[in-house]
Amino acid sequence: MIYPDVSLFIDGSWSVAGAGAAIDVLNPATGDRIGVVAKATRADLDHALAAADRAFKTWSKISAFERYKIMRKSAEVLRARADAIAEIMTIEQGKPLAQSKLETLNGADIIDWCAEEGRRAYGRLVPARADGVRQMVVKTPVGPVAAFTPWNFPINQAVRKIAAALAAGCVIIIKGPEETPASCAELVRAFADGGVPSGVINLVFGVPSEISEHLIPNPVIRKVSFTGSTAVGKRLAMLAGEHMKRITMELGGHAPALVFDDADLDAAVKQLASGKYRNAGQICVAPTRFLVQEKAYAPFLEKFVDAAKAIKVGDGLDPETTMGPLAHLRRVEAMEAFVADALSHGAKLCAGGKRIGNKGFFFEPTVLADVPNSARTMNEEPFGPLAIINRFDDYEEAVTEANRLDYGLAAYAYTKSARTMNKLGGAIESGMVSINHLGLGLPEIPFGGIKDSGFGSEGGAEALEAFFNTKLVTQFED
Ligand code: NAD
Repeated sequence: MIYPDVSLFIDGSWSVAGAGAAIDVLNPATGDRIGVVAKATRADLDHALAAADRAFKTWSKISAFERYKIMRKSAEVLRARADAIAEIMTIEQGKPLAQSKLETLNGADIIDWCAEEGRRAYGRLVPARADGVRQMVVKTPVGPVAAFTPWNFPINQAVRKIAAALAAGCVIIIKGPEETPASCAELVRAFADGGVPSGVINLVFGVPSEISEHLIPNPVIRKVSFTGSTAVGKRLAMLAGEHMKRITMELGGHAPALVFDDADLDAAVKQLASGKYRNAGQICVAPTRFLVQEKAYAPFLEKFVDAAKAIKVGDGLDPETTMGPLAHLRRVEAMEAFVADALSHGAKLCAGGKRIGNKGFFFEPTVLADVPNSARTMNEEPFGPLAIINRFDDYEEAVTEANRLDYGLAAYAYTKSARTMNKLGGAIESGMVSINHLGLGLPEIPFGGIKDSGFGSEGGAEALEAFFNTKLVTQFED
């Protein structure tokens, strides 16, 4: 397969950047340059702003039913191209081909879900105190959106924002991931080929800070949606706040996974190890701090280490591969630093811990045990194939540790006790709690964090809510 160079998509046309500048794209499995992505200039961004402004005036007036039909067609186009898109995604991002295909197909399901929800975005009538008064609550699209999406799920992170915005009657300028631009561009192409009119979706790439600082303050933009690190999210939220723009922030996590003595250990290890090492651990909801009750600790650790060692690391195009490379060199260096720091604080290395080879960005599935809270990895999101397995005595200790950090995205627990399950659902401070299975990320359920993990939800009915204003119309008639 020939990797496509990636252009900007503005006002319905694919074009190289105004100044012709471009950024190299690498294959993380080899480290080789495979192509380039166009780097937007300010003039390109102004062109996208003008196109979005124009397109909003018509797209917001098209009926929800018409938008639904266009979006459903776009989903079909995406599904039909899933095999080719999956290959592009694996070449630029590294994940195994089957996971790339699943992400593409799930993207189509998300478009369908949002399209359908758009038809059910009702307002309401509020009973009035006086005769002749009619109080109507109506939902209106918030306006043109500036969105910023990362490289770990080039389609999933983008489609969640695009589909919900479009279904609500909004238009969008999306800054896609420069590391993995082509699969995100294929998603946008599917929408365009499905019949989404010019200017409704505009895709740009470039220097992230230059783009966000240009788009967010611009009066055309009414809403900012970002997925990425907490540090960047806070900067963008501040900028949005200065200009009173609505925000959705999907930020980092440091998910605790509580395994109680009464848990089904085989199921817990199988599911948690797959959750940990999927996409080489570069997932904001990946289980990270494994807290295992004293009696279950030794068998859990042994089984988990076996599971980590059984992972077949390699090029995502090889059908035998179960874990691909990290997305870029920065993550390899981050993993090396986390492991060295944890060991210097007295942690035990039970599996992995090293870069594999010097070609591509491969890192061993790693297990660290008995890691003290003073180690960096107990406090900062590792965002890589690194599991921390620590022990606890009782429920209170586990919940206190689970809630210790400012992150609050996902949490997992394994127990057979209905009482413990019921208590945990309330006690864990996170946007999502998944007990005895990995049940997150479906189109029909909310996805989002609290505390430093963000603001707002991207799935379920809440997905569209983020793109609506609530407007009151109250009228009196004799
Ligand atoms: P990073 O913080 O440099 O970038 C993360 C994302 O934010 C990238 O897509 C980048 O293009 C974008 N970004 C960075 N600065 C920006 C700015 N000023 N304006 C707009 N967008 C900006 O980190 P990285 O090295 O690429 O990734 C590592 C960290 O990012 C991880 O530790 C993880 O916390 C976070 N991350 C989170 C997710 C997620 O799903 N929540 C996804 C990818 C990365």
